[in-house]
Amino acid sequence: MHANRPHTQGDIFVAGDPGYADAVATWDTSVSMRPSVVVTAASVDDIAATASWADARGLDIAVHNTGHGTFTDAVDAALIDVSRLRGVRADLENRTVAVQPGARWSDVSAVVAPHGLIGLAGGSPGVGVVGYTLGGGLSPIGRTFGMAADRVRAVTVLDADCGPLRVTAQTEPELFWALCGGGALGIVTELEFELVALPSLFGGGVYFPGEEAPALLTAYRDWVPSLDERTSTSIALLHLPALPQLPEALRGRYVTHLRVAHVDPRDPDIEATGRRLLAPMVAAGTVIDDDTRVMGPADLPDIHRDPVAPTATSYRGGHVDHIDDRTIATIAAAADAREHPAPTLIELRHLGGAYARTTRDPNSATARGSAFNLYVSAHWGPNGPDGARSLADDVAARIGSGGVGAQLNFFGPAPHPGDLLRLWPDADADRILAAHARLDPRGRLRTGRPLR
Ligand SMILES: Cc1cc2nc3c(=O)[nH]c(=O)nc-3n(C[C@H](O)[C@H](O)[C@H](O)COP(=O)(O)OP(=O)(O)OC[C@H]3O[C@@H](n4cnc5c(N)ncnc54)[C@H](O)[C@@H]3O)c2cc1C
Repeated sequence: MHANRPHTQGDIFVAGDPGYADAVATWDTSVSMRPSVVVTAASVDDIAATASWADARGLDIAVHNTGHGTFTDAVDAALIDVSRLRGVRADLENRTVAVQPGARWSDVSAVVAPHGLIGLAGGSPGVGVVGYTLGGGLSPIGRTFGMAADRVRAVTVLDADCGPLRVTAQTEPELFWALCGGGALGIVTELEFELVALPSLFGGGVYFPGEEAPALLTAYRDWVPSLDERTSTSIALLHLPALPQLPEALRGRYVTHLRVAHVDPRDPDIEATGRRLLAPMVAAGTVIDDDTRVMGPADLPDIHRDPVAPTATSYRGGHVDHIDDRTIATIAAAADAREHPAPTLIELRHLGGAYARTTRDPNSATARGSAFNLYVSAHWGPNGPDGARSLADDVAARIGSGGVGAQLNFFGPAPHPGDLLRLWPDADADRILAAHARLDPRGRLRTGRPLR
């Protein structure tokens, strides 16, 4: 074995090698990673071998899959790229699936959707299953079925000696609690979770002019209390890019985007029910595009229509417990780009329903008792990060609050070490720290969101 490189089946690059730049590229291009070595793992053994090699040399370790939630520059670290390990093993009879660490939601959907089954994916099919689920996982159908973390059966993670440890609620309840919702506390090599039977649903998006946001946010505030947990919704004020793949009416436009998913397998005419439910919102503004329809499980990404191409953004999350007139005025003013720079997206997701329920196997997922999840995202301008970070932080702070009640996946980078831990009450934060200390006792794992 070469001392400067671990012994692996997968490709290894050090700075200066052809292929290094591609190997460290992330979906979020606002982050430049500069590890001393990057390994594109060809097997789970490669992950363990690289972690062990780095640990023996006192090197920090970073894990990279799709790059949708990368916050570390990984300078001088050993970077383990798990993105080639995209295997999905489904047990259709028992409605469970086991995924390798590089699987994306699109990989799960390709295997299970033809059987009328679905995992609790988020808005974007390109997001990694493991990274998303470790952070809780808010799905467009989440008010009906809860968070992705609530469906986890087992997490296989490397222990302090870089050996595999299969964690379940029965065998390791404390680690299981922490891993399901507590973020990347260790290196996960396999995730097993339950699927949901959902051959069809009513869902999609309705677009209105952005300028009508005050009336639409008011209508949304008054509408959502009438919805039971079969209906999940969100509303976003969005500056759309001028992309040819968008309908002409939406290209380059500032819009209010209402997203909906209504689930009721016993309803013989779910389309009629869905349209009746939507009627108060449709009446509240001028519809410029409506792509709601009866859809299959593979169509879930059409509900949010998230961007697919790599992008450079700064984002910040939080929560809103009550949408009052002041909140509406603040959101509408902040999103309107006519007089000042505006974030690309300000989104409120309606929580409650199954999100709020205690799960059979307790976990540490945050935001369980909150009313709305807040997400503010600002594209980097031509001058790089200038303005985007402070814009996202400032707008999120004016609209909602962070800390306990905010969701880990939307929190963004930690402004100061320890900020992430404020998402949990003190006693739970101590449990997260203890789990992290057990899996990563030398504090080698870098996420860009240090717990201390
Ligand atoms: C366009 C977009 C849409 C999104 N939509 C949603 C949504 O609807 N709901 C929601 O809840 N979230 C959503 N997110 C947030 C997303 O779930 C998180 O950013 C998630 O962490 C991304 O995981 P990843 O593996 O794709 O990204 P990566 O950047 O590759 O990984 C994210 C983090 O997880 C760690 N990680 C990844 N794999 C492993 C592993 N095997 N072991 C240990 N650590 C690992 C990485 O080190 C990193 O710290 C969205 C993000 C984007 C950019």
